[in-house]
Parts: sequence; C-alpha cells; structure tokens
Amino acid sequence: MGQTLTEKILSDHLVEGDLTPGEEIGIEIDQVLMQDTTGTMVWLQFEALDLDEAQTELAAQYCDHQTYQFDFKNTDDHRFLRSAAGTYGAHFSRPGNGICHNVHKENFAAPGKTLLGSDSHTPTPGGLGQLAIGAGGLDIAVAMGGGAYYVEMPEVVNVRLEGELPEWSSAKDVILEMLRRETVKGGVGKVFEYTGPGAESLSVPERTTITNMGTELGATSSLFETDEKTKDYLERQGRGDEYVELTADDDAEYADEIVIDLGDLEPLIACPSMPDKVVPVREVAGEKVEQVLVGSCTNGGYEDILPAAKMFEGREVAKHLEMIVAPGSKQAGEILARQGWTAEMMAAGVNVSEATCGPCIGIGHVPASDSISLRTFNRNFEGRSGIEDDNVYLCSPQVAAAAALKGEIIDPRDLADELGDLDAPGVELPEKYDGSKTDLIYAEDAIDDELIKGPNIGEVPLQDPLGSNISGETLLKMEDNITTDHIIPATSDILKFRSNIERLSDFTLSRVDETFAQRAKEAGTGVLVAGENYGQGSSREHAAMCPMYLGIEAVLAQSFARIHKANLFNFGIVPLAIDEETYEKIEQGDDVEIVDDVAEAVESGQEEFTIRVNDDWEATANLHASERERRILTAGGKLPLTKQQAEGG
Ligand code: SF4
Repeated sequence: MGQTLTEKILSDHLVEGDLTPGEEIGIEIDQVLMQDTTGTMVWLQFEALDLDEAQTELAAQYCDHQTYQFDFKNTDDHRFLRSAAGTYGAHFSRPGNGICHNVHKENFAAPGKTLLGSDSHTPTPGGLGQLAIGAGGLDIAVAMGGGAYYVEMPEVVNVRLEGELPEWSSAKDVILEMLRRETVKGGVGKVFEYTGPGAESLSVPERTTITNMGTELGATSSLFETDEKTKDYLERQGRGDEYVELTADDDAEYADEIVIDLGDLEPLIACPSMPDKVVPVREVAGEKVEQVLVGSCTNGGYEDILPAAKMFEGREVAKHLEMIVAPGSKQAGEILARQGWTAEMMAAGVNVSEATCGPCIGIGHVPASDSISLRTFNRNFEGRSGIEDDNVYLCSPQVAAAAALKGEIIDPRDLADELGDLDAPGVELPEKYDGSKTDLIYAEDAIDDELIKGPNIGEVPLQDPLGSNISGETLLKMEDNITTDHIIPATSDILKFRSNIERLSDFTLSRVDETFAQRAKEAGTGVLVAGENYGQGSSREHAAMCPMYLGIEAVLAQSFARIHKANLFNFGIVPLAIDEETYEKIEQGDDVEIVDDVAEAVESGQEEFTIRVNDDWEATANLHASERERRILTAGGKLPLTKQQAEGG
C-alpha cells in the first residue's frame, strides 16, 4: 500500500513506534525554532540539562513577539537570547527582522525535513513540504539536545482542492472555509494534506497561509506536496539547491477526504471571537470599522501586502479609522519599500509599522473600546488584541483593504462595483527575494560565547516526583475552549515576566478570575476543572509551568488541546478526562480526591481513576497517556526525568 506524504516524511525520521494512528511515535528532529517569549525558557531548560551545543542540523532563535522593548526586561531577554544562540550554536534573528515563521520560511525551511518549534504556528512551512510541528519549550530543548520528539501518530486527511480561486477570493478564504466546516476542534490528532489541481494552482506564500492557520483547526500539522512552484520559490530565495520532489503515492490511503472547489469560494470573514465563526463577508457588510491591520505570520508576506497596496494606490483610507500594515518580515518590508509600495501606502494614509507580531498579541495598536477591528491575523480570541471587550474579525488582505477604503465591512467585489475602477489584484512573487539575510547572525558568526542574564531572568522551577495522594479544592471551574491566552495572557505588561516564573505565576488565569493566583497560593494545592478543548491556542509551556508552580496537581477536563496536554505532562500535572455529566455536577470550591494511589496507578498503566467529590459522590476520570508520558509524570516532569536519564538514574 502506498504512503501519504506525512507517512513518508515520518518514516524517514522514525526512531520509535510504528505509524498506527493514535499510537505514540518518536521522531528525529532536523530543525528547531524558537521565538522570544518562549525561547528564554527553552534556553534556561537547555542550560539546566547541562548540554553543551545544539545537536540538531539547525536551530534558530527569533525575536519577534515583543520587539518594542518597553522596558529593560524585554531588552535583557533579547540579549540573553542572542548570547544563548551564540553559546549553544543557533542562528539568531534580532528584533525588527521579522516573525519567526516568515523569516524561517524565507531562510531555512526545507522540504522533507522535520521542524519542531516553540510556537503553535510552526506548521507554516508545511506549504513548502516541510513537516513542522509546534510544541512546548521543554520538548524543543530536549530535541535540540538530540532527543526524539514524541507525538501521537496523526490521522492523515486529504484535502482535495479543485478548480481555481476566483477574483477577490484568496488563500485565506480556503482556510476560513476549512474552519467554517471543521471548527477549531476539527483537526485534533490530524495532519491535513492538501492535494489536487487547486493546490497546484497556489503559490508557496498562498500555501503557507493555509498551513499556518491549520493550527486554528487544532491540527498537528498541514502539508502540501512539492512541485515546480516550490522549486521556483526556493530559487527566488536563492536556495534552489534545497528543493526535493515530494508527493504522496497514487495509492496512498487517507483516513478521510475533504473536497473544496476553489471556484466556489467567496470572500469570507471570521466573526468575533473565534476563528471558526466564519460567514460570507456580505453577511456582515455595513458594520462600521475603526481599525484595520494587515500583517502577521498568516498574511504578512510581500505577496499578501502587495494586493492591499495596489488597492490603496491613488486612493485614501477612510478618515475615521486607522489602517496599519505590519510586514511579517524585514524581507517583505524591504522589497515593498524598494518598489515604492510603502510610499504609495503612506500616501493613502496607511501607518506602516515594523516587522513584528506585536498587535497580534495586544502589543501596540490595541483597538479602541467597543469598536470593530479587522485583521488578517489567525486568531481573534477575546482579549487577545489587548482589550477585553474587543470585536476582532479575521479576513484576507483584500477584504481588509476594502474595509479600510470604505470605512465599513464590505465585500471587495461590491466595492469594486461601487468604485468602478478597482481591479482585483492577483498574487505576485517578486523576481528575487532579498533583504532579511543582513540581519541574521549565523551560528558560525556568533558574537557571544557565554550566557548574559539580566536581573529578571530567573530559574527553571522543578517539581517533586508524583506522590501517592492528590486531593484539594476545585480552585476554578472553567467553560469550553479555554485558551492558553486565558491561562497566561500575552499582553505587554505580562510578557516581560516570561523568564521569571515566580512573578509570572501571579497572572495565572487572571483573565478568568483575578483572584485565582492568590487563592491558589493560599491553598497551596488544588485542581482545575474545564470543559472541552482545554488549553487550545498557543504552545506556551508557561500555561502549564505557572499552574505547577502554584501547586495545581491535576486538571479535570472533558478534552485537552494537543500541545497543552503534552505541556501538562512535561510539568508533572495529571490531565484527567471526565465526561459531561461529571463536568456538570462538579462545582467550583468542591473538594476533589483521587481515590487511587496516584503514583502507583500512573506507573502501572491504569487508565481509569476514581475521583471522590466532597466525600459525597464518586465518578470516573481517565488518564490517556503513553508509557513515556507516564514515566514523565511519575518523575515530576520531563526536565527531572531527562536529567535522571542523563545521570543514568
Ligand atoms: Fe506572531 Fe501572531 Fe503569528 Fe503568533 S500568531 S507567531 S503572535 S503573528
């Protein structure tokens, strides 16, 4: 039987297990990437593991999320990251050079290689045939030390794209259509492989918009086969020699097939505040818009901004709104500037920003209260923009630019009819990409050979081995779809403590309950209860590390997001699945006790646990964990276990 492309790449990298969906496999990692807000902890963990040098073919550290450097803590973090990259042999990309996924795609992403990144949108270079997966920082540190990465073998789903995109529709509409159909949970445990004539019709940058936002489906990764377009893209980046032809076998068997006719796609938009609340733009047309942003790792490329710039040429954005363009990389910004498009945009009233994540996580350009902001980003979780009562819509650059010109949400086809002289801009690649290499410090040119730690850079917290008893108060009961933004917000006042867990933990779950951290500290121990899809969103391991630091020993949820569940194991917190009836019955403040001897039960492979609530009623909770995950839990987390193993314990 033939293999899917995912199976082919995994087979080439397999070090443990077989490719049975749902079973855990260990794979070798070729490349790792880190961004600034997760990278500090990766390097502190790498240091704690007593490792001398990155063992992967390539490691790259980017400074992209918090580039504005509001106080010395951010700048200290960036200096620490540069020193760590230099000391341990990673490439370094300084603030202003762009978003990790964009810069990695431009400079290092390679077909057929595996990439592990401490950021949930790591799957972006799947559009170039690279199997890329987001993970927690500790997994990155271990992989960078030469250890395998363990993941549940995903089901591989074929997304067959037919036809070609009509004018005014874009790659963003393809992934919004996927979200409309499959929802934010539809990709859990899956890799989406995009094939068919529609896939062939898309350029690499369009493909990476789709693979980037596969993360919002909860997918492990997303992939495109490689072809002439992949080769052409790499050649334009000056890396043609890295091209490899990669396709699925004709008789490959997929777990499922989804068919999308690109010709049927109209401009779509995701309404506040979930990426899967997708409707045609015409359904929400007429809503007044006060802010529009084009950029991010989803739509911050030259090829994304150019269509918007063409729409602005010779026109003016509506006076009552702010129109911001933040290129995803310096490369994109520099080419647009050299070609004169930056001047065109500025003449139209566009505020052209630096290349950064910034506004995507509420750092800069926070919307006005009770207003509508249209963004070409990938997430619109409530509060992510930096204000709790935000109304963020997600759309393509074409829809965003149309709204900026009209001052309200409008389907760009209708704006074209109104204006009469607005042509649909196509997607164009520059003849030759250049412009980002100058700001990279390659590992071989490192300017540091020892770690530079400022006063805000703390220690890695460690957890004791798992005990036999877990009992405590339900310190918080939460709803479905709690995101890692809820658990540890990423706003600027909080981000600066990412390398200082003692301080950062004060903000744990503050967006759900401001008193939580204080109550947890007073209780000393306790459990959390949540509905479906707990921990969706980013890869940030701080969302497990801080609850651990506050004494949380177990999370009881109806289901868990993949990366967050792995992070809970990595930090010694027991993730237990409960059914809906138990979820409904359990109340905040209830005392919960796991009746079993927890350490013994986890070690012996027991799946069903009995929980007793208020000494009154009992229910079953399930631990779905591999043998390896059980060893991690028993040791008190992955760091203590890895250290034990290294010491031969
Ligand atoms: Fe940056 Fe936003 Fe992309 Fe995350 S999703 S990497 S914050 S641009």
